[in-house]
Amino acid sequence: MDYEMTAFEKEMEQNLLELRSNLLAKISKSDSDFQNLVGSSGTGDSVDIASDDLASKKMEAIGKIDAGKLNAINQALVRIRNGKYGVCAMCGKKIPEDRLRAIPYALLCMPCKRSSER
Ligand SMILES: [Zn+2]
Repeated sequence: MDYEMTAFEKEMEQNLLELRSNLLAKISKSDSDFQNLVGSSGTGDSVDIASDDLASKKMEAIGKIDAGKLNAINQALVRIRNGKYGVCAMCGKKIPEDRLRAIPYALLCMPCKRSSER
Protein backbone atom coordinates (compact mmCIF):
# COMPACT_ATOMS: atom_id res chain seq x y z
CA MET A 1 0.00 0.00 0.00
CA ASP A 2 1.59 3.24 -1.16
CA TYR A 3 -0.08 6.27 0.26
CA GLU A 4 1.32 9.58 -0.98
CA MET A 5 1.56 11.88 2.02
CA THR A 6 0.82 15.57 1.67
CA ALA A 7 3.40 18.15 2.77
CA PHE A 8 1.26 18.87 5.82
CA GLU A 9 1.15 15.20 6.76
CA LYS A 10 4.90 14.88 6.37
CA GLU A 11 5.35 17.89 8.62
CA MET A 12 2.98 16.44 11.22
CA GLU A 13 4.71 13.07 11.03
CA GLN A 14 8.01 14.76 11.88
CA ASN A 15 6.33 16.56 14.79
CA LEU A 16 4.82 13.32 16.04
CA LEU A 17 8.09 11.40 15.80
CA GLU A 18 9.80 14.16 17.73
CA LEU A 19 7.07 14.19 20.38
CA ARG A 20 7.33 10.43 20.67
CA SER A 21 11.11 10.39 21.10
CA ASN A 22 10.89 13.16 23.72
CA LEU A 23 8.26 11.19 25.56
CA LEU A 24 10.28 7.96 25.38
CA ALA A 25 13.38 9.81 26.60
CA LYS A 26 11.38 11.13 29.52
CA ILE A 27 10.09 7.65 30.34
CA SER A 28 13.55 6.08 30.15
CA LYS A 29 14.93 8.88 32.32
CA SER A 30 12.42 8.13 35.03
CA ASP A 31 13.36 4.51 34.41
CA SER A 32 17.03 5.15 35.23
CA ASP A 33 16.05 7.21 38.29
CA PHE A 34 14.09 4.19 39.32
CA GLN A 35 17.07 1.89 38.65
CA ASN A 36 19.29 4.09 40.83
CA LEU A 37 16.76 3.93 43.60
CA VAL A 38 16.55 0.13 43.47
CA GLY A 39 20.26 -0.40 42.78
CA SER A 40 21.38 1.55 45.86
CA SER A 41 20.04 -1.06 48.26
CA GLY A 42 21.49 -4.58 48.38
CA THR A 43 19.91 -7.75 47.08
CA GLY A 44 17.56 -10.00 48.95
CA ASP A 45 13.95 -10.93 49.35
CA SER A 46 12.98 -7.74 51.15
CA VAL A 47 14.40 -5.64 48.29
CA ASP A 48 12.43 -7.63 45.75
CA ILE A 49 9.24 -6.80 47.55
CA ALA A 50 10.21 -3.13 47.81
CA SER A 51 11.11 -2.92 44.15
CA ASP A 52 7.82 -4.50 43.15
CA ASP A 53 6.10 -1.82 45.13
CA LEU A 54 8.20 0.90 43.50
CA ALA A 55 7.64 -0.56 40.05
CA SER A 56 3.90 -0.43 40.45
CA LYS A 57 4.05 3.13 41.78
CA LYS A 58 6.23 4.12 38.86
CA MET A 59 3.99 2.42 36.31
CA GLU A 60 1.04 4.17 37.86
CA ALA A 61 2.69 7.57 37.51
CA ILE A 62 3.87 7.01 33.95
CA GLY A 63 0.77 5.12 32.98
CA LYS A 64 -1.75 7.84 33.62
CA ILE A 65 -0.18 10.69 31.72
CA ASP A 66 2.38 9.31 29.30
CA ALA A 67 0.88 6.01 28.19
CA GLY A 68 -2.27 7.75 27.01
CA LYS A 69 -0.28 10.35 25.13
CA LEU A 70 2.10 7.77 23.66
CA ASN A 71 -0.86 5.74 22.52
CA ALA A 72 -2.45 8.77 20.84
CA ILE A 73 0.84 9.61 19.10
CA ASN A 74 1.19 6.05 17.82
CA GLN A 75 -2.40 6.08 16.59
CA ALA A 76 -1.84 9.38 14.79
CA LEU A 77 1.28 7.96 13.09
CA VAL A 78 -0.69 4.94 11.92
CA ARG A 79 -3.41 7.23 10.60
CA ILE A 80 -0.90 9.30 8.65
CA ARG A 81 0.38 6.15 6.94
CA ASN A 82 -3.17 5.01 6.20
CA GLY A 83 -4.13 8.39 4.76
CA LYS A 84 -6.65 8.91 7.56
CA TYR A 85 -4.77 11.56 9.45
CA GLY A 86 -6.69 14.69 10.36
CA VAL A 87 -10.08 13.00 10.07
CA CYS A 88 -12.10 12.99 13.26
CA ALA A 89 -12.35 9.47 14.73
CA MET A 90 -15.92 10.13 15.85
CA CYS A 91 -17.76 12.15 13.18
CA GLY A 92 -15.41 11.62 10.22
CA LYS A 93 -15.09 15.33 9.47
CA LYS A 94 -11.74 16.95 8.78
CA ILE A 95 -9.95 18.35 11.81
CA PRO A 96 -8.76 21.93 11.14
CA GLU A 97 -5.01 22.19 10.50
CA ASP A 98 -4.71 24.81 13.25
CA ARG A 99 -5.89 22.27 15.77
CA LEU A 100 -3.52 19.62 14.43
CA ARG A 101 -0.60 22.04 14.60
CA ALA A 102 -1.43 22.75 18.23
CA ILE A 103 -2.03 19.07 19.07
CA PRO A 104 -0.53 16.82 16.35
CA TYR A 105 -1.93 13.68 18.02
CA ALA A 106 -5.51 14.98 18.21
CA LEU A 107 -7.88 12.25 17.03
CA LEU A 108 -11.13 14.17 17.48
CA CYS A 109 -12.36 17.53 16.21
CA MET A 110 -13.20 20.16 18.81
CA PRO A 111 -17.01 19.57 18.92
CA CYS A 112 -16.49 15.79 19.36
CA LYS A 113 -13.74 16.32 21.93
CA ARG A 114 -16.05 18.57 23.90
CA SER A 115 -18.96 16.18 23.73
CA SER A 116 -16.72 13.21 24.73
CA GLU A 117 -15.58 15.15 27.82
CA ARG A 118 -19.09 15.91 28.89
ZN1 LIG B 1 -15.74 15.10 15.12
